[in-house]
Amino acid sequence: MNVQVDFNLLPFNTFKLNSVARYFVELTSEAELAELTKFSKDKKLPIRILGGGSNLILPEKIEAIVVKNVLMGTRVLMETSDTVLISCASGMNWHQFVMSTIANGHFGLENLALIPGTVGGAPIQNIGAYGIEVNRFITQVHGYDFETGSTKTLTTNECQFDYRHSIFKTPAYKNFFITSVDFQLLKKANPVVTYAELAHAFSGKTATAGLVAEKVIEVRQKKLPDVAVIPNVGSFFKNPLVTAQQVDQLKKSTPDLVSYPQPDGRFKLAAGQLIDKLGFKGHKQGSVGMYEKQALVMVNLGNGRREDVVALVERVQQACLSVYGVSLEVEPIFW
Ligand SMILES: Cc1cc2nc3c(=O)[nH]c(=O)nc-3n(C[C@H](O)[C@H](O)[C@H](O)COP(=O)(O)OP(=O)(O)OC[C@H]3O[C@@H](n4cnc5c(N)ncnc54)[C@H](O)[C@@H]3O)c2cc1C
Repeated sequence: MNVQVDFNLLPFNTFKLNSVARYFVELTSEAELAELTKFSKDKKLPIRILGGGSNLILPEKIEAIVVKNVLMGTRVLMETSDTVLISCASGMNWHQFVMSTIANGHFGLENLALIPGTVGGAPIQNIGAYGIEVNRFITQVHGYDFETGSTKTLTTNECQFDYRHSIFKTPAYKNFFITSVDFQLLKKANPVVTYAELAHAFSGKTATAGLVAEKVIEVRQKKLPDVAVIPNVGSFFKNPLVTAQQVDQLKKSTPDLVSYPQPDGRFKLAAGQLIDKLGFKGHKQGSVGMYEKQALVMVNLGNGRREDVVALVERVQQACLSVYGVSLEVEPIFW
């Protein structure tokens, strides 16, 4: 185990914040987990797991042992005539995993192409895009608890997946390291093209998994800033859920309000539309701002500072609450 001291995580977070970890370790094998647990106990410091750093806002200093997850590998666990069960190590790059499944004739994840990060990061907030959430294909999540030093497997139900949420975001799982995820994929593609941009693109045309992935990649590249050029963490706020009454009320003052009915009777609003209407698109706050082409995305304008991020979050949240009476919840995780 190669431990580095006072290690700057700038290259390891897509918002490109300067953040110095007291200790930094790259974890390449599950065999190192026990040694890591001992190191954490000896140093009396907690362990923080870092995947692709694509959903994180970091502080200037992290008094912890930051573990960069580079566990690699996939294997087929079981096959039937219709499905395949694949185990994927949590350090694998998500997009590369998705594209490899399609190339191997295993379908379902195509709408989730080009989401940055690792396979282990995917269950944390139950990643979703273009009408699909990843929990639809997860059968089990395997991990290791640094507190107890034991392994544990959770079924999909036990993961308590919800919109951008899972049990892994709760305090009880703060010491839990996801080591691998099992996915049940289809051998015959069943493309989901209900999302407006996909429905339009495939109207009157046959959608294959490969073509859906290609279209998703094209749309994402058009809509979202490239993290290599403009640092960001994707959507900064969750789409708020409100009651039918609230929607009726809001539509009186905002007739073009976008709202999607949910199975529980509530409605999901588009956070980006609200932020845009509040005038924050392209708005700057010191070193950060809301992206000029997509109001839902906060961007680092150069030498971004966490305090500017926090200040802008507060301003957007306050404005949304006072104008629309709607609370906006932040999507990325603040360490
Ligand atoms: C341009 C862009 C577009 C995006 N688009 C989407 C989108 O369409 N849909 C969507 O849902 N998200 C999206 N995201 C957010 C992000 O990519 C996902 O949430 C991704 O799954 C995060 O994975 P990661 O490996 O980068 O996690 P990190 O950012 O490294 O970590 C996030 C949190 O998960 C924890 N974690 C990570 N790996 C593990 C593990 N193995 N075990 C335990 N805890 C772990 C970390 O400790 C941290 O608390 C986008 C981000 C960007 C930058």
